[in-house]
Amino acid sequence: MNQRRGLSDDAASRVDAVVVGGGIAGLVAAHMLVEGGALPVVLEARARCGGYLAGGTLTAGGATVRVDVGAESFAARSSATRSLVEMLGLETAPPAALSAWGYTPARRRAQAFPLPATGVLGIPGFPWAADTRRAIGVGGAVRASLDSVLPADRVDTSSLAALVRSRLGSRVLDRLVTPVAGGVHSSDPALLDVAAVAPGLLEAYQRTGSLTGAVRALRAQAPAGSAVRGVVGGMNQLVTALERSIEASGAEIRRSTSALTLRRDGDEWLVRTGPGQMLRTSRVVLAAPARATLGLLADLVDVEGAEPSRGTDIRLVTLLVRSAALDAAPRGTGILVAPGTSVAAKASTHASAKWPWLRRQLDETVGTDVHVLRFSYGRGGTDTAHATAADDALVAQAVADLDQLYGITDAEVLSSLVTAWDDALAPPTPASRTRTARLLEDVDGLAPRGLPGLTVTGAWVAGTGLAAVVPHAQNSARLLNGR
Ligand SMILES: Cc1cc2nc3c(=O)[nH]c(=O)nc-3n(C[C@H](O)[C@H](O)[C@H](O)COP(=O)(O)OP(=O)(O)OC[C@H]3O[C@@H](n4cnc5c(N)ncnc54)[C@H](O)[C@@H]3O)c2cc1C
Repeated sequence: MNQRRGLSDDAASRVDAVVVGGGIAGLVAAHMLVEGGALPVVLEARARCGGYLAGGTLTAGGATVRVDVGAESFAARSSATRSLVEMLGLETAPPAALSAWGYTPARRRAQAFPLPATGVLGIPGFPWAADTRRAIGVGGAVRASLDSVLPADRVDTSSLAALVRSRLGSRVLDRLVTPVAGGVHSSDPALLDVAAVAPGLLEAYQRTGSLTGAVRALRAQAPAGSAVRGVVGGMNQLVTALERSIEASGAEIRRSTSALTLRRDGDEWLVRTGPGQMLRTSRVVLAAPARATLGLLADLVDVEGAEPSRGTDIRLVTLLVRSAALDAAPRGTGILVAPGTSVAAKASTHASAKWPWLRRQLDETVGTDVHVLRFSYGRGGTDTAHATAADDALVAQAVADLDQLYGITDAEVLSSLVTAWDDALAPPTPASRTRTARLLEDVDGLAPRGLPGLTVTGAWVAGTGLAAVVPHAQNSARLLNGR
């Protein structure tokens, strides 16, 4: 029962648990609390839940096509996401068996080339495999092969770039790892902490004594089949399914409602959501991004210096295009662009070639020569021009990039959608990871010194991507289920 009578703490509504943030981390945590028998209240600042999982609509000739305008797949390396999706009654599916392509500044080698299929973040397992050799050339393959004879202690693990350069050389870094890391993390690999972006890779390196050996070991451990999967109908369906399941249990999701303050009162927590609106609970999951979470924690612990660097202002342009030349999927599932070319996009996904369910939907509604392509802008650092560009200018840029990246000239744009994701994907640098880990020791109920009844989750602590976020959020909520 809600009692919103006044500002006094006594007037606070008592609830089983409060989850701050209705992104995927918060929804998964709430779902797990419900499984444990609790009826949590989820607070989501925006009018819609899902955070970076979101859908949008393209239209052509009276037909509508629903597409993901945020996350569109999940890494299959952990089974948690797939199990959750399937438990909620949705169908998962691998992408089409096509390569992704790379696009790099041209010297002697081709600008566009298929990326090796068996890598980890672009790091190859076999330098002499035909696809790898085509991408890095014989000189690059010779240098990369030194990895298997260099002593294991000849390695620099201070960043992803340093690791790759020290073991495999600059050619692998520039042509394979930089475009892939830019596409996935919107960041230069020189900023990325290896443990954060490639879980298990350093441990595998310790065991095998070579980086290519470590990549092969990780790939061998991963479940058979594709490294990523999607949800038939789009990843955004996972949000709807979680919301439905949480609300059907009797738990509540309050949209357009922010947690404003958090404080301790005896054995309980008080979460203020507005004038005279207070929730009292023994269990709190903080699943909002870093800045919001640190703001809530500031009265409880010293958060000085824990603030992450600003993320990237990403713009996604999704196009519905008629083009017979695209029917043959000339760039496979899409293309990752290294810095230093004349193309402004950092990546493009040929979504209707990548996802067979989307292809079927287009065939049935708008035609077999109609395609969905997505262009992504914003690498972080000084690449910021797109952030202030008007939507029309971004669409025009995407059309120019489409012609250049896919080598086509017959594209007729039927519909377009521009999505802005500001301050997204702050790079997990070694320094920021250390600061976060130190803070969590004083805060997270999972740590011995942590605050009772409170856990912290979300991508800024778990790592980017659903494969990291989903199991972390489940564990955080599981800890509280015992209370
Ligand atoms: C463009 C893009 C594409 C991506 N593609 C993929 C992909 O294909 N596969 C993949 O695995 N990962 C992908 N990722 C990464 C992945 O989407 C994220 O790691 C994940 O969605 C983060 O979830 P989260 O719940 O931690 O955070 P968020 O999604 O940021 O959710 C946090 C929520 O908290 C809310 N909030 C903030 N402050 C408050 C407050 N005070 N009170 C209440 N609510 C608050 C916010 O409104 C938001 O809804 C992508 C990311 C981006 C930006």
